[in-house]
Amino acid sequence: YVMRQRYTSDVLVIGTGGAGLRAAIEVHDQGLKVLLVGKRPKADAHTVLAAGGINAALATVDPEDTWAIHAADTLQEGRMLGDPRMVELLCQQAPQAIAELEAWGMPFARTSTGLIDQRYFGAHRYRRTCFVGDYTGLEIINALMREVERRQIPILERAYISDLLHTGNRVNGAYGFWLADQRQFMIESNAVILATGGHIHIYQRSSSRRRENTGDGMALGLQVGAHLADMELVQFHPSGMIFPHELAGTLVTEAVRGEGGRLYNRHGERFMQRYDAERMELSTRDRVALANYTEIIEGRGSEYGGVWLDISHMPASLIRERLPRMVEQFQAVGVDITREAMQIAPTAHYSMGGLKVDPFSHATNIAGLYAAGEVTAGVHGANRLGGNSLAEILVFGRIAAQHAGEYVRQQSEQPIQAAQIEQAAERLAWASQQAGDVQRSLIEQLQQVVWHGAGVVRNEQTLEASLDQLHTLRLQAQQRSVGPADLAATLDLQSMLLTAEATILAALMRPESRGAHQRSDFPATDPLWQRTIVIKPYRDQTDQLRLQLDTELIPTASEEVQAAFSQQEYSIAGRLVE
Ligand code: FAD
Repeated sequence: YVMRQRYTSDVLVIGTGGAGLRAAIEVHDQGLKVLLVGKRPKADAHTVLAAGGINAALATVDPEDTWAIHAADTLQEGRMLGDPRMVELLCQQAPQAIAELEAWGMPFARTSTGLIDQRYFGAHRYRRTCFVGDYTGLEIINALMREVERRQIPILERAYISDLLHTGNRVNGAYGFWLADQRQFMIESNAVILATGGHIHIYQRSSSRRRENTGDGMALGLQVGAHLADMELVQFHPSGMIFPHELAGTLVTEAVRGEGGRLYNRHGERFMQRYDAERMELSTRDRVALANYTEIIEGRGSEYGGVWLDISHMPASLIRERLPRMVEQFQAVGVDITREAMQIAPTAHYSMGGLKVDPFSHATNIAGLYAAGEVTAGVHGANRLGGNSLAEILVFGRIAAQHAGEYVRQQSEQPIQAAQIEQAAERLAWASQQAGDVQRSLIEQLQQVVWHGAGVVRNEQTLEASLDQLHTLRLQAQQRSVGPADLAATLDLQSMLLTAEATILAALMRPESRGAHQRSDFPATDPLWQRTIVIKPYRDQTDQLRLQLDTELIPTASEEVQAAFSQQEYSIAGRLVE
């Protein structure tokens, strides 16, 4: 018999990043009872890492800007794989999200006349990125947390959700444990919003840095029958640190290149000349990532497997003034970037795929289950524009909560069945018998497999090989091992195995190169593949979860947005920042 705590709420929000906090505020303001749960300490979710800014066509600095041009840039730069309905909603409502943040005390940078200042981000036609220095994400979390606390919304922090509970085809709660002492709890709730972030931790190098972004929300959704989309589309940032090992992948901001940083290979050649002679280091994110990757793979990289990013030709005073966080970040590892070059390599940065949701309500295909933020698919297509994610988490955090609230009001309560609770408890009992060090080592192996098989450039051979290796890792993860348990690592690995498989299968299915999805065996973009790859889970005879793939056509954009499409292949303007 397991002792467990029991909580109840009308709507449960899983995740205390920007999407989760914004959703919880909306549920509360509708007069419903809401509970927030996060596996990180509260106010320290992944969102705090976001630096550069948040987009909205406010037209404070460039009066020509409109929501329709913002939508057109997002769709075109996403190589036409984004869902126009979702993108249009995002761009129409982003200004409202900024106004809310302002009302909640967000200290936005201002123009000389006191308006909210806006700066350029890569591939935007106009300046539409609002910011607070280079710590915009942290200030968003601070502003939202103040509102959450003012409303006295309860938060369970350092609490890990391991299962969703469901009766029939309807989600009505969740099960989990406290990271501190493994005590278990269950939550009864008429609706659940997943705001658990992405899955980039399946890569050996990722800008997420810590035990987060392990794809939990996508896996929790799959387990109860929810569909995923766009899982082959993972954004790689051109520049992540490569050593020391613990910091590998940590982001080196694009502002280094924006301020004049140059890329060199081992022969001292400024290689961007060969990839994009016109824009050089200021080319688009996917192109620079591909260039860095190619130099390294073809043997022109450094001994540690990177290339050199050098800004030391600029005055030291300017570097200190414009890039203080980078100076500090490298100083801490003994590198003085005012005098020497940094070694960098591409790093997995953002999950453009995730749970497939209705573009208007952000409901999944499972009753009672909603999702918002990086855990969802639909906005970014094959290449996310910098600054769009922070807008997305606020706009769709609120929208998902609105619709979850409406749903709850129309439903009668559906008691949780004992069998569901037992199943969830059994899974934790199994996990508590697995040796933590074995599971952690399997995580590292998985990260290497995915990095090499489904990384910046993939092909049928690397993808098939990684699928085989993943299968072996899955069998090893299931084997009994002896030693102190690490419940979180064991469950993280389960989610990573599932979401890595989804990413590899979808990457195998798409026989073209488009944006972040680069296939060396299919280097061209195929117009026939302007389609979404959808992943549907099912159970085989042995009750194992299996993934089935399908494709869907993408609807056309509204006339207003089509009229705003750029005539150039892809628009580029301004300097690149995050
Ligand atoms: P997250 O912030 O990832 O929050 C997820 C939450 O879910 C966390 O609280 C986590 O602990 C919790 N969780 C996950 N699994 C479980 C579980 N099983 N049980 C309980 N809780 C769970 N975007 C921009 O628009 N502009 C930028 O300038 C920008 N800069 C960035 C810089 C860096 C270095 C990085 C890494 C990203 C940047 N991004 C930027 C992207 C952006 O920060 C993220 O996409 C966004 O913050 C995601 O928010 P979220 O609320 O969806 O998820």
